[in-house]
Amino acid sequence: MNFETLAIRLQTDRTQHREHSTPIFPTSSFVFDDAEQMRSMFADEMEGNIYSRFTNPSVREFEEKMAALEGMEDAFATATGMAAVFASFMAFLKSGDHLLASRAVFGSTYTVITQFLPRWGITFDWLNGASPENWQQAVKPNTKMLFLETPSNPGLDVIDLVFAGKFAKENSLIFNVDNCFATPYLQQPAKFGADLITHSATKFIDGQGRVLGGVVVGNKEQIAEVRKFCRSTGPSLSPFNAWVLSKSLETLAVRLDRHCENALALAHFLQKHEQVGKVTYPFLDTHPACDIAKRQMKKGGGLVTFEVKGGLEQGRKFLDAIAMCSLSANLGDTRTIVTHPASTTHAKLTEEARQEVGITKGLIRISVGLEHIDDIVEDIDKALKKSVL
Ligand SMILES: *Cc1c(COP(=O)(O)O)cnc(C)c1O
Repeated sequence: MNFETLAIRLQTDRTQHREHSTPIFPTSSFVFDDAEQMRSMFADEMEGNIYSRFTNPSVREFEEKMAALEGMEDAFATATGMAAVFASFMAFLKSGDHLLASRAVFGSTYTVITQFLPRWGITFDWLNGASPENWQQAVKPNTKMLFLETPSNPGLDVIDLVFAGKFAKENSLIFNVDNCFATPYLQQPAKFGADLITHSATKFIDGQGRVLGGVVVGNKEQIAEVRKFCRSTGPSLSPFNAWVLSKSLETLAVRLDRHCENALALAHFLQKHEQVGKVTYPFLDTHPACDIAKRQMKKGGGLVTFEVKGGLEQGRKFLDAIAMCSLSANLGDTRTIVTHPASTTHAKLTEEARQEVGITKGLIRISVGLEHIDDIVEDIDKALKKSVL
């Protein structure tokens, strides 16, 4: 089956009521027929639901859909995207191991790698995603994992997954990709040899700003390790959120087609705007890795960034002049969301740390929603004109 069909038709559980849509199983635990069934399920001799921290049919459906859509064998769903990223580290890394990660990672991922992993003796080095020819010299005898985020948040850096897959294989590294910005509809890291794929399902997968969720996707053996870690430490996804996310997957392809179409149109509009400096979008030919993006992604995604010419001050004025779009921290919503990283999400970083990931003072990140493109363009155009210093 094709992606769109699979996302709609893959349904794992029906009840005796013959419901058409996916049922929801809001239960914390399950009953056993007898002592022997209970014993054998606890002993892992027999498969079955025991307790919703381990498995739940609503959660299982979301996991099986995500595995199928990523073209991998299995998945484990978590309460948030960060729980998925953290579990993907903790299930495989131990004291004495070394992690290589692309520098332009999500803010909380940066905190986990720099402030928490070292507490357990896990060391790290950053890689520049734009110069993979230098990666080899960063590999140490104890390097265990390669973690990449592409396209990155918020800079939209694109990393060559063909190269990364070969590099991971040659160096026997566990290849772990945060595929949040692309989703499996636009990019399937497994095709390039990824062993683990993490998602914040909060973003495009829910796509409607309702629930938090995350998932780690991989092959059977690897997901067994993730499940073992999560089953005992407890970052499990709730059945309700899993049900919302399973339903959301049914519309992922059509939503993303429109997100991408609107984002590309907005990027073209911004490129011609007087108040705008650099515009970044993976499928613009001015993007330094446009060729790579076009090779590994179906479309350019739903995010666009640009520079307002007057820097920090004009950036703030621009936000205040926005009338329709939302000022919000989320992304991947039906509603267009505008953020100014230098004064908000990345305000606590030093100027130098912001520079490293391309966050200039006038950088604006737009998560382009599903409103009519003319209304999005009009709102942003008016705000740009009003914000002239
Ligand atoms: C939002 C995000 C996360 C974290 O997801 P949460 O669901 O907020 O925990 C991880 N990676 C990327 C790229 C993100 O954008």
